[in-house]
Amino acid sequence: MLQPGDMIGILGGGQLGRMIALAAANLGLKTRILCPDRESPAFDVCAEHICAAYDDEAALARFADGIAVATYEFENVPLATAEFLAGRVRLAPGARALAITQDRLAEKTFVRDLGIETAPFAAVDDLPGLEAAVAAIGLPAVLKTRRFGYDGKGQVTLHPGDDLAAAWQALGRAPAILEGFVPFEREVSVVAARRSDDAFAAYELTQNVHRNHILHVSSVPAQVTPGTRARSHDIACKLSRALDYVGVLAVELFVVSHGADERLLVNELAPRVHNSGHWTQNGAVTSQFEQHVRAIAGWPLGETARLGRVEMTNLIGDDLQEWQHLLAEPNAHLHLYGKHDAREGRKMGHVNRLWPDADALDGRKTDGC
Ligand code: AMP
Repeated sequence: MLQPGDMIGILGGGQLGRMIALAAANLGLKTRILCPDRESPAFDVCAEHICAAYDDEAALARFADGIAVATYEFENVPLATAEFLAGRVRLAPGARALAITQDRLAEKTFVRDLGIETAPFAAVDDLPGLEAAVAAIGLPAVLKTRRFGYDGKGQVTLHPGDDLAAAWQALGRAPAILEGFVPFEREVSVVAARRSDDAFAAYELTQNVHRNHILHVSSVPAQVTPGTRARSHDIACKLSRALDYVGVLAVELFVVSHGADERLLVNELAPRVHNSGHWTQNGAVTSQFEQHVRAIAGWPLGETARLGRVEMTNLIGDDLQEWQHLLAEPNAHLHLYGKHDAREGRKMGHVNRLWPDADALDGRKTDGC
């Protein structure tokens, strides 16, 4: 268990690392951040930083020296880096969570083997493999690279009559997965935390709307049945336990109508704090960032109840120009990441709008697996 004043190491210096570092500071913990990018927004708010490549073993050894626990803010940390660190210091979440979530095929197989529903899927390693997968799954379908896809990059939707060879070429002929197209009603996610002793707490299911493949708005409560809400917690609990997970985890899901009922299909796991959990900073008793720090520190998990109706809107690129208007809005809480260059498509900040509601808190329950 960490003691106040201890140091947490964070791999990755983006906005997620920055907000983890701020939450750690509130709890009297220091952070040391390693990131290759000199302009890392997290460098502004940590006690120490190391600007080095993730495969620089001398830098990793300096990073590990004296920290009580290491964590990461993104899932594409090279596995060799995670394993190097895990040999020197406690790493939370562990390297296995990274190995599984870095590869869409391993991830979907892991989820399916736990008896949790996903879209139908098949591995695709070459053009004949794509043809066979299309014959088995049917069209429309989504072809995705197994690794390094994010925000809609590395994927293409295939419709009847499409040229499969061209699609395979467009994806760079990289190892891929074909998924059946899910006719979803809405996209949702659940953010949850687990400690090494199996303590577990989940936030209420969040509804997500994307624009240009980037998360645009997350809102709570999601427009789903109470049964769907409860099942999302069971899914997060089952997944985090099977991974022997420590820290905050996000599960992205599709809600599909099924008569009067709803089905929940897992799309993706993120072994980290997540953009769709930013609402918790102003809309829940404990923010996801504090929760992550508590979980990896071995401290009691915080209360996850929400405080009312909440909406998080990402500020992408030029949306940043709105900052003065947003500051003047009574229900708005502005979070800016301190990035200098407002490039198109770049996440510059977000705004949480909270409409407090005493009844939301009354609905709270103690979580547990
Ligand atoms: P992903 O990178 O897997 O999160 O996919 C990005 C977005 O593509 C998702 O948020 C969905 O809107 C859409 N998408 C991904 N997979 C599927 C699928 N199998 N069926 C329908 N839409 C999908």
